[in-house]
This record gives sequence, C-alpha cells and structure tokens, in this order.
Amino acid sequence: MASVLTCMDCGQQYPLDSVIFACGVCGGLLDVTHDLEALRTTVTRDLFDRRLGTLDAPYNSGVWRYKELINPDVDPSLVVSRPEGNTNVYATPRLADWAGVDTLFLKHEGENPTGSFKDRGMTGGVTQARALGMKRVACASTGNTSASLAAYAAFAGMEGIVLFQNKNIAVGKLSQAIAYGATCIAIAADFDRNLELVRELAAAFDIYVLNSVNPFRLEGQKSIMIEMLQQLRWNVPDWVVCPGGNLGNSAAFGKALYELYTLGLVNRMPRLAIIQAEGANPLYRSYQTGFEVYEPVHAHTIATAIKIGNPVSYPKAVRALRWTNGVVAEVSDQEIMEAKALIDRQGIGCEPASGCSLAGVRKLVDAGIIQRGDTVVGILTGHLLKDPDATIAYHRDALAGIHAVEPNRIFDAEPTLESLGAILSPSTLTHV
Ligand SMILES: *Cc1c(COP(=O)(O)O)cnc(C)c1O
Ligand SMILES: [Zn+2]
Repeated sequence: MASVLTCMDCGQQYPLDSVIFACGVCGGLLDVTHDLEALRTTVTRDLFDRRLGTLDAPYNSGVWRYKELINPDVDPSLVVSRPEGNTNVYATPRLADWAGVDTLFLKHEGENPTGSFKDRGMTGGVTQARALGMKRVACASTGNTSASLAAYAAFAGMEGIVLFQNKNIAVGKLSQAIAYGATCIAIAADFDRNLELVRELAAAFDIYVLNSVNPFRLEGQKSIMIEMLQQLRWNVPDWVVCPGGNLGNSAAFGKALYELYTLGLVNRMPRLAIIQAEGANPLYRSYQTGFEVYEPVHAHTIATAIKIGNPVSYPKAVRALRWTNGVVAEVSDQEIMEAKALIDRQGIGCEPASGCSLAGVRKLVDAGIIQRGDTVVGILTGHLLKDPDATIAYHRDALAGIHAVEPNRIFDAEPTLESLGAILSPSTLTHV
C-alpha cells in the first residue's frame, strides 16, 4: 500500500496528491502515514548506514538518506534538496557539568543550508509542491520558515510568498527572505493571525501552504531524530530536549521515534522534553492540567522563533509526549539568554530559542526529572547569526529585564603597545 494522508482525529484517509491542509470531514490535522508493515522488510539500519558518505543525490542529504520514511513514493528526480541535514552532534562536557548531567550532546540544526532546522521540513514540502505541479508557495513565519521557504522556492524556480509581523523579526532572517527573492509582505498582525491569512490565501488562489500544517514538512523534520540516532550508532539516549514554539518539531520527533520503534530500528524510545519560554507557554500550561485544559496565550519572549501563542501542532505534540513518556518545562528569558551565552562561549553558538534546550536540561535536573547519569541530547534549532541584535545587546547588558551574567565587553584601547598591554596582562580570559 502507498503512503496516504490520514486525519489524526477521525482516521479519514486521502490520497497523497490531495491539496488539503486539514481533514475535510472534521477539520483535524493530517499526517502522512506510511505502510509500516511493507516498510518493515526494506527499512533497516544497514540500508541507511550504507548510504552514509554517498555522493549521489538525493541520498547525500541528511533528510533523503531516509527517503523510505520521508516520502517513499516520490520520484527521486523531483526532490528539491540543497542538500540539508548532516548536522553535527557535539559532545559538550563543560555544559553537561553546568546542567548537572554526565553526558550531554548538542545536535546543531543551525548548520543547515539556511541556518535552521526548517530546511529539513522545507525540502519535504517544496518537493511535494513540485510533485503536485504547484508554482506558488507561501507561509506565515516568525522568520526562519520564511528564510527557508524563500531559498527553496528560488532553488526550485517557484514564487515564494512570506507573510510576517511588521515588527520584531530578527534581521538575519528578514535579510535572507529578501535576498532569496521571495514576495515579502509585512502585516500588522501576529504570527497566529498571519497563519490564518495564509490558509485563506491558499483557498482563494492556487497557492501551496508551507507552514507546518503541511504534513510533508513534518516528515522532513523527522530526519533530525533518525540522523541523531544513526550518529549515536543507534544507541538510544535517555532524553531528547528541544524548544517548543509552534510544536511542529516536537510533533515530528514523536512520529519519527514511534515509527523507528515500530519498525524495530531501535528497541526503546528516548523521552522527549519540550521546553517553552515562560511568556509563550500554552503547552506547558496544558501539561500542568494533564492536557485537560488548553488555552492559547498572548505570546511574548526574546526568543522570537518560539513566540507563538496558539501552536498549530499542539495535538500532535501531545501525542508525541504520550508516545515517548515525555515532559514539558518552561524557562525564563533570563535563563534562555544565559544558556545561549554559554553555548556561544563554547565556540558552538546558536540563536536565542535554542538556549531553551540547555536551560531546560538544567531545570529538569534540578526538578529531579532528568538524572545525573542519563544521556541527554539537546537540539540547537538555529544559527548564532540569525539574531545578532539579541547577542550584542546581551553582552552590552542592554536587554530590558535580562541581566548579562558574564558579558564579553569590548575593550577600548589607544593604538599603543602599552595600552594593549594594560588590557592583556594578566590574561583577560573569562571562564565558563
Ligand atoms: C521554528 C523554530 C523553533 C520552534 O520550532 P517549532 O517546530 O515551531 O516548535 C525553535 N527554534 C528555531 C530557531 C526555530 O526556527
Ligand atoms: Zn478528520
């Protein structure tokens, strides 16, 4: 049986080439579901391991290496790939120590072609757009989705259209969307409203929606988990920790782990920990009620990538938490920026939202939920250069309500050896 679109609520199925973004019967979210029984014989660790190091497209991509679990039936010649993925996993003993665990790895999704994990979803979505013959693709975005969409649309020769809020968009992301030639539309409305507008646009014009309501994006993002496990030689960590905004990534991680477990590629699942900013925490609040109550919030946080009050993939994230016996935590903007500064200081670096992963590990250790001996993988979602304003303002101690703990201040010197000597002896090195 081929892959189909399946409503996660009522189970209604649709052919893969239907251009729909919600269930026609009940309005529920759609999944791309694969025939796991049929894949059981073809999908093996060995198949994926043999493709490591190949120069052949699309299997040189860290998404399409796992094509059988992403979009098994799509013609490989239609795949739009930069190629993405193949991101590093760093052992970070000093940060592990700070967070209170023995073993912490950070997988850096900021190393994708446009600097965030969104590329893994976008290759899935734009490939499907091409397979469907679509010429125009659109999204609403806090920034990284629009940067990624703009790049992949341009690469595929399609028109990219991005809707964003007319304030608080990080400069690195905005400059990408402009440079890649997308039609950029600034709107006096927040992300949640802009997403509604995109869906109305798609219905009125022949435009393909590439927000994470598009399930082909989540299929691409599953590859973060598959690639991470392969890099750990299929040794399953105890925890995977990631930031939660619109919750597409959390949803994708859960689906990937569930499928890998069902297919027998791993013999257990890691527990998923989703970390939200205190000012954008609807999942955390709902988690506190055992998911009995869910209420959108008016979002505010310095981490603009997760400044989302009504996450589209909420039901799928809840499902992911149930599948993986997961937990949710919240961290303050102070904690986010402190953790980011520490990650930056290792020479690794990330954008503010990614700080959630490290801050969250420490918080969950303090709460006695993550144990010192547990093996933890944190996901860094975006590149340091996405939001340079936040970084510079932090080190100037110029962020309202945030205190820079060990700011790296710029010294002023006269153009003389004496003046430089006064700064450089003894060592000016600060430590973590
Ligand atoms: C999109 C994004 C997030 C949030 O991911 P969701 O899938 O929306 O939860 C976090 N960090 C960065 C850098 C992002 O671009
Ligand atoms: Zn339905």
